[in-house]
This record gives sequence, C-alpha cells and structure tokens, in this order.
Amino acid sequence: MSSATEYEDKTVTRGELKYQGKAKQVYFTDNPTILWVHYMDQATALNGKVHENIPEKGQLNSAISHILFEHLTRQGIENHYLSSVSETDELDLALDILPIEVVTRNYASGHFVSKFNATPMQKLTPVVQEFYYKSDELDDPFMNDSQILALGFATLSELTKLRAYAQEVNQALTEIFDEININLVDFKLEYGRDSEGKLILADELSPDNMRLVDQKTGKSLDKDVFRKHAGDVTVGYRDVLSRLENLEK
Ligand code: 5GP
Repeated sequence: MSSATEYEDKTVTRGELKYQGKAKQVYFTDNPTILWVHYMDQATALNGKVHENIPEKGQLNSAISHILFEHLTRQGIENHYLSSVSETDELDLALDILPIEVVTRNYASGHFVSKFNATPMQKLTPVVQEFYYKSDELDDPFMNDSQILALGFATLSELTKLRAYAQEVNQALTEIFDEININLVDFKLEYGRDSEGKLILADELSPDNMRLVDQKTGKSLDKDVFRKHAGDVTVGYRDVLSRLENLEK
C-alpha cells in the first residue's frame, strides 16, 4: 500500500493511525480535513467477540461502498467519501463522529425479530428508525431521543435531521438495490459533524452494515452469512458488487 496519493491535484500523505476499528483502520493525513481509511479483511460479530480473517472482504466492501457513496452523491446526499486510493483504501472527510448508530428497518429481521417475536421479513410500515449508543463495552444499547439529548450526544435539531437524512438514504439505497433485484432489509448509518457543525454521512455502506436479500431466492447476501456460520460470506458480497458494477455499465 503506497502511503501517498493525489487528491484535487495535491499530494495527500498517510500519517499516524488514529483509530483501529473492527473492520477498518483510520489514519491521519498531512491534511487535517482528510482521513485515510483502510478496509481490513476482518469480520467480527457480537460486537467484536467473534472475529475471523476473510481474504478479499476489505476490497469487496471498499468497492461496494464507493459505488453506493457515489450514488448518494449523485442524488444530492452529502457524505464523507472523497476518493479511492487503492482497492482497499480511500480518503474521507475528517468528521467528529457522533457516538450514535442510526438503524433503519424496512423488513423485520435480526434484533427486531428476536425482540418482538415479529414474523421474519414482515414489511414494516412505517419504516422503523432506531438509535443505538456506539459502545462495544455496553453491547451498543438502544437509546431513545430523550436519552440522547440528556447525554448531550446530539441536539434536538440534529436528531430531527438524523431521522430525515436516514430516510433519504433509505430511499436512495432501496431504489438502487431494487434495480438489481435485492431487498434492502435494514442498515446502520453513522454521522459526523464537519468543522462548521454540519451533519454528514460517514462510515461505510457495505454488506457489513446492511441486510440484503435476493428478491427471487430469498438468499442472504450480507454479513448474516458470517453471523450464522452459513458459508463463505464473500460469495454474497461478490454477487452484490458484480450486480452494482453491471448497473453502472
Ligand atoms: P440488528 O439490530 O438487527 O442486529 O441490526 C440492524 C441492522 O444494522 C443490520 O443491517 C446490521 O448489520 C446493522 N448494525 C447494527 N449494529 C451494527 C454494528 O454495531 N455494526 C455493524 N457493522 N452493523 C450494525
């Protein structure tokens, strides 16, 4: 991996490791407004208690994320993705990330089924939005609006925006996945504030963060395959990527 790249005709050089996540490494660069992100081949479940090296996963997630971030940009949805550096690395806008996971559910699955005994894949009307506190130590507990406000994690106006922005992302992603015969079941987003305090979509948009189900076969094409030990997770990821790439041609 080279440690420098061009962005907007300027050389950006990778610096010190800022943060080691479960599936990504985030580095500072010599430009304080830009971060260098490396997608790892690591898969984790149960908030990091289970992990495994899965060759090729980093580049698949990176490629899928790039296509989806660029799709959102074309739809006028601002996000942190700036440019690709290599098959596994990208430059992102440096943001102050909120400690909140924004989950959107179009169909019942995962914890929505285990919590409420809902029928798996039941269509959810209205679409369900939930917030969770990003904390491995506490197993990402659910948070309601007043808990978020009382802890000072976001303001009321930011909460209103988070809900509206996540709904816009849901619409844009549901549409693109529908075009490739995939149902977007649910997904998790993260947001950060830029230097002016504006909320911008961050993190990644990959099958690590979303449930994707083939409309014809009902097969899972996402990290559930890893969570459930149901085979090679990269088969589904490769399928998602090739359908997205074909759409772009
Ligand atoms: P659930 O709450 O059913 O486990 O997850 C709902 C959706 O959000 C799924 O698409 C899941 O992948 C995503 N999600 C929820 N929490 C996390 C998390 O901590 N990490 C990742 N990568 N995805 C999450």
